[in-house]
Amino acid sequence: MEALQAEAKIYNPIRPFPLILRDDEFNMIAQAQDADIFNLSKEDQGFAKEVIGKSGVNIHMCWHCKTCSGGCPFSDAMDFFPNQIIRLVQLGMKDEALESSTIWICVGCHTCSVQCPQAIDIPAIMDVLRQMAMAEGVKVAQPHILNFHKEVVNSIRRHGRTHKLEIMMRYKLSKKDWFADMDVGLKMLQKRKLDLMPSKIKRISEIRQLYKKEREKDAN
Ligand code: SF4
Ligand code: SF4
Repeated sequence: MEALQAEAKIYNPIRPFPLILRDDEFNMIAQAQDADIFNLSKEDQGFAKEVIGKSGVNIHMCWHCKTCSGGCPFSDAMDFFPNQIIRLVQLGMKDEALESSTIWICVGCHTCSVQCPQAIDIPAIMDVLRQMAMAEGVKVAQPHILNFHKEVVNSIRRHGRTHKLEIMMRYKLSKKDWFADMDVGLKMLQKRKLDLMPSKIKRISEIRQLYKKEREKDAN
């Protein structure tokens, strides 16, 4: 193990590791490398541990091969590519990760994770970072996207399913932007893709109970 630790120090931090390493060897080298080469404080290492603990995803398995970033359909709009977000977390750069627009632009489509040679669940990492950003009151880089998320969640609480027209109306109200995409909305109405009235599921009380439990959990 000591030999491996010593070897870790001569690796380039963004070069993939040899495939012959077992997972535990790989993890040990990756962690030693980040901690030693970059002289990470306990606090910086703690951020990575927290993200790993909450997401269940071992970010130290990332090779930084950039397959995820190359395949992400939204990477052009992001301030950091998906693999760069992983690197920020590995290096304990919490502010940069939580203030990033990427965590809000990611739609959780899993295009990245299905192509990842290490099967890293990137959307799960993004989810955790969004939750941490909100819990810690970090300025949200894309507040309109957060509003959209909230409208979707509120629609499910009210009806047990989404009512798209209502979500769009409320979202537009918060954005004060009534006329952008109006042509698309009208076309969707014409093609009956948008219901005028919401439909409720039968046991809506059970859905509301779930929301109540989550609120109580958050309060504790
Ligand atoms: S595809 Fe997987 S291993 Fe490669 S950079 Fe992205 S997360 Fe890391
Ligand atoms: S899940 Fe997020 S990061 Fe991955 S490809 Fe989709 S938008 Fe990009």
